[in-house]
Amino acid sequence: MLDPGKPARLLGSLLILAVLVVAGYLVLRHRGRAAPPPAAGEAYGRAAVSADLPAADDLRAVAREANVVVCVIDAARADHVGCYGYARDTTPNIDRLAGSGTAFEQHFSQYPETKMSTACLFTSQYPDTHLAYGDRRLAESTFTLAQGLRAAGLHTVLFSQNGYASPMWGLGEEFDEAYYEPHLKEAGRDLPDIWRPEALLEQVECWLEKRPRSRFFAYVHFMPPHDPYIAPPGTRRYFAGQQPPEAWLSDYAFDEVERERRAKERPWSEQHQGWMLNLYDGNLRYADWAVGELERLLREAGAFESTVLIVTSDHGEAFGEHGYRGHTFSAYDETIRIPLIIKLPRLNVAGRRISALTQSVDVMPTVLDLFEAPYPRDGVQGRSLLPLMTGEAGEVNDYVFARAAGQPPSYVIRSHDWMLVLYRGGQLRALYDLKEDPRALQNVIESRPEEAGRMVEAFRAFARSQTAPPLQFVDSDARRPQLPEVNKIEVNEEMRRSLEALGYLR
Ligand SMILES: [Zn+2]
Repeated sequence: MLDPGKPARLLGSLLILAVLVVAGYLVLRHRGRAAPPPAAGEAYGRAAVSADLPAADDLRAVAREANVVVCVIDAARADHVGCYGYARDTTPNIDRLAGSGTAFEQHFSQYPETKMSTACLFTSQYPDTHLAYGDRRLAESTFTLAQGLRAAGLHTVLFSQNGYASPMWGLGEEFDEAYYEPHLKEAGRDLPDIWRPEALLEQVECWLEKRPRSRFFAYVHFMPPHDPYIAPPGTRRYFAGQQPPEAWLSDYAFDEVERERRAKERPWSEQHQGWMLNLYDGNLRYADWAVGELERLLREAGAFESTVLIVTSDHGEAFGEHGYRGHTFSAYDETIRIPLIIKLPRLNVAGRRISALTQSVDVMPTVLDLFEAPYPRDGVQGRSLLPLMTGEAGEVNDYVFARAAGQPPSYVIRSHDWMLVLYRGGQLRALYDLKEDPRALQNVIESRPEEAGRMVEAFRAFARSQTAPPLQFVDSDARRPQLPEVNKIEVNEEMRRSLEALGYLR
């Protein structure tokens, strides 16, 4: 019997098919048109911010089927990254990722050195709580990002070119798999070739080919732009002979104390600083190339569209801006302000920029919150950044904190507008009005006692909440407590050689 509804249903089906074909064509056409790389310094603008911010549940729904890759480029200072406003084209790949993700503009490391900073990232604990100084291991009870993600069902793998951010130095032993210095050497490479991203990318590529079927968390730590500056000549010399867009030399804030140290160093001329900055920027471009290659490998493996990609650094690098060169012993912005970019698959947040204060210790709770992985709240000192990404909160931190190495060390407590540096057990202090003096060159502690007092009080509250409270920096009768006993790392000759080559044992 003839079905009278059949022709109408057929017509309806044809119409739906036609709509789908046209829609598919439009999507493909849109996808195929690659966005041009952003021009230096104007990587992406505030106008690009999506009007509809995602809800936390939208973000978590994306993560439910996603992998996560945390990519660290070692010693990358934020103010030299294109999408952070640098006037040079140092980071076209990172800028492009930021253009379709979220960039945190005021993001800070808690310690300007690899091992301590990576420990902050892995544990969401400040240095005076995780206490992974020198040859100390993390306490066995310390909960880590990899543990949290493994509990959420992700396979965990670490790739690291820096021994300090690897099981060699007691970090990342809890990952299901780890590829670091010994594996790079097995592949027939030696220093400094093992610090070229090509070496690590080979390991990533092999692993992606044979990876398990489950979702994964990959930690990928590239050595550049950390010195030695080993980029291929074309990249290393990319900015050679040019005038760096922004550079200044100034003295140590605590001149009388530093005079002795400075006497041993040859002062830099502006010309020499220019050479070094050009070299550094060339190597930052090398690091950016590595990030682009990592993206390519993920795409080729069919994993990019289902991966949350986080690009950040462990600390910055100083070139004499406050009398200090390198990292480790000084915690001004050049050594602690670092990039943080979170690119979520599928959700287009179109170059969202977040100007709230954020820190390395916030990365772990953010990722675990996103992946709905439970974690022990009392052991975690950072804050989830999801409320910033959804627009539910404008700020999650009133202050950020950093500590530099050295005996005695120095501490920095920083808000958007003020920065207090505590030096020599707190006896020497400098306060900077960052609104008036964004380079932090004028110590105004004498003329702004109220602000200084407020910052000292905030530091005291911070210090009290640490396992080994550094209260001697604010209370003259306080003593630094004995650090709890932990297992130590055995430092062998090979590890010593690596450190020497990186300039740490000079
Ligand atoms: Zn580092």
